[in-house]
Amino acid sequence: MPRYDFRCRACGDTFEIDRPMAAASDPAACPAGHEDTVKLLTTVGLAARGAAPAPSGGGGGGCCGGGCCA
Ligand SMILES: [Zn+2]
Repeated sequence: MPRYDFRCRACGDTFEIDRPMAAASDPAACPAGHEDTVKLLTTVGLAARGAAPAPSGGGGGGCCGGGCCA
């Protein structure tokens, strides 16, 4: 069953709901009970929010990854 991300515009919370595709467009109340929510676009298999490939430092160093600089 696909999973859909929702964001509550009342409290700003984000939450996930598993529901059939046929019900994808149905309104969903947030865990706090607010009904003013928007469905976020999620694409299965792709990072939906902020891909963060490099840890910290930018990853431009080069040789330190294998421990040769220790
Ligand atoms: Zn809410």
